[in-house]
Amino acid sequence: MQEYMWEAIVQCDRLYDGKFFYGLTTTKIFCRPSCKSRTPKRENTKVFSSVSEAITSGFRPCKRCKPEKLKAPDEEIAHNAKTFIHNHFDESITLSKIAEEIHINPYHLHRTFKKIVGKTPSDYLFQIRIKLAKEMLKTTDKSITEIALKVGYHNISHFSSVFLDKVGMNPSEFRKQYSTSALVGDEDE
Ligand SMILES: [Zn+2]
Repeated sequence: MQEYMWEAIVQCDRLYDGKFFYGLTTTKIFCRPSCKSRTPKRENTKVFSSVSEAITSGFRPCKRCKPEKLKAPDEEIAHNAKTFIHNHFDESITLSKIAEEIHINPYHLHRTFKKIVGKTPSDYLFQIRIKLAKEMLKTTDKSITEIALKVGYHNISHFSSVFLDKVGMNPSEFRKQYSTSALVGDEDE
C-alpha cells in the first residue's frame, strides 16, 4: 500500500472514494477510504483497485459505507486506463488487456476513453510511444532497434511503419533532420 492511501484511510478522505478500496484481512470486509468505521491496523489492511477485485479476493462490502454502490465515473475509467498505458507502453498492450486490468469491458473502455480524453486508447498509446521515440532519436545515440524496443515494438519494421504513418517520415530521416547528438552515424532500419 502506498503512503497516500494509508493517509486517506486514516483521514477518511472522501476524495479517494472510488480510486481504491481497502479491506480488513481479519474480517474480510472491504470499505471506501472515507468509511467512518474505526481506523484499522495497517498490517491488517489490504488495498484493492476496484470493487470486483475485492470481491474476487473473497471480501464482502461493508454495510456501513456500501463500497459496492460507488460507481466508477467515466473520469475514473479514463484515468485508470491512462495510468495503465503510461506504466506499460513498452509492453504489447491491447484494448482488451487494458480493459481487463481496470475491470470493465473493452467496448465500454473504448467509448468512455474517447469521450473523456478525445482520442482512442490506441491513439493515446501511439502518442506516448512516438513522443518518447522522437525524444530518443533527437537526443540519444541509441540504435533505432533499441528505441523501437524501448517504446514497445519488438519488430523494427512495424515500428518504422507506425512512425512513418504518425510523423510523416521514417525514424532515420527524423534523426538526420532533428538530432542534436553529434555522434549519430548511419542507422540500420
Ligand atoms: Zn465501511
